[in-house]
Amino acid sequence: MPVENVIIIGGGPAAYTAALYLARAGLDPLCIEGYGAGGQLLTTTTVDNFPGFPDGIPGPDLMTQMRAQAERLQTRFLMEDAMTVDVSNRPFTITSPSGTFQSEALILATGATAKTLGLPSEEALQNRGVAYCAVCDGPLFTGQRIAVVGGGDAALTEAMYLTTFATEVVVIHRRHEFRAANIMVEQARQYENLSLLVPWVVERVLGEDAGRVSGALLRNPETGEERVEELGAMFVAIGHHPNTDLVAGQVECDAHGYVVVDPGRTSTSVPGVFAAGDVQDPVFRQAVTSAGSGCMAALEAQRWLAQGRPTGRRPDTKRDERLGDRVSG
Ligand code: NDP
Repeated sequence: MPVENVIIIGGGPAAYTAALYLARAGLDPLCIEGYGAGGQLLTTTTVDNFPGFPDGIPGPDLMTQMRAQAERLQTRFLMEDAMTVDVSNRPFTITSPSGTFQSEALILATGATAKTLGLPSEEALQNRGVAYCAVCDGPLFTGQRIAVVGGGDAALTEAMYLTTFATEVVVIHRRHEFRAANIMVEQARQYENLSLLVPWVVERVLGEDAGRVSGALLRNPETGEERVEELGAMFVAIGHHPNTDLVAGQVECDAHGYVVVDPGRTSTSVPGVFAAGDVQDPVFRQAVTSAGSGCMAALEAQRWLAQGRPTGRRPDTKRDERLGDRVSG
């Protein structure tokens, strides 16, 4: 079986950027992009914050263009899911429905999935007022009353961010106590146009008939009381699942399941395995930061292959600095 230089697993901005850098460097990468190729941007409407598109660009179109660029530079794509990954020995072994592959280096760019409330009305109104990323979609709802569901740091961060656009932001949390840091809750309380509704759960997102969010039916889990909130949008911020099942127990992950990378790097606990994009980023989660880390992973993998030696978790930084000059995009 031929051994690949590098296999990329993923089909979002991180994966496609890594692919185009590696292809351009002549490393003939294979990208196993998954059946859901395109990633989270497939469920985004207009992307206004990816540089280079002055009029914005629909999320699916942005992914199509990134993929086409990597393909023009000779990336080979496999549009199916990787099924298993074994990084206990080199070359690494990856299986997919097409067969078994071996690779000297591996870039994990499998992303993360926003958790949903699991309500049929929520699913029906996705991209029609139900959203999962305030930085991505907040400006679309300027001048409207917006709800944010969740009680963690992400929910309060998103709620405070949204106060810039919304007439009023209501945070809907299912318990009296917030999971978010106290300081975050105190900061949120300072905003005149932000209120915290507790304890309430969302029973139904309203607006299915009109095809746009118009409100939410809430229930108090303690008293059973119900109330309706009129809304123009609902942001669900109840956490993300990093897609790390393939490497669970093999590559170091943090308590939330995100792949741990070296500070400022994409190298992981396993030499030759690099991680890029949301699978290793619980904080920024932007298309542009994902693309940036995909570039970093490609350059680190390229450097690692050129040396035929592991950089891994404890790089010899002095030597890496000297070698850094030889690596270019
Ligand atoms: P968290 O897991 O911290 O919080 C999730 C919140 O959503 C909890 O309040 C939880 O409620 C609620 N929730 C979960 N499932 C449901 C559901 N089905 N229905 C209603 N509510 C639900 O996730 P975050 O995304 O907020 O944060 C993830 C990590 O990222 C954390 O470590 C966080 O500190 C970090 N982060 C830090 C930021 C910062 O410092 N600026 C910004 C964003 C994230 P309950 O509390 O009842 O379980």
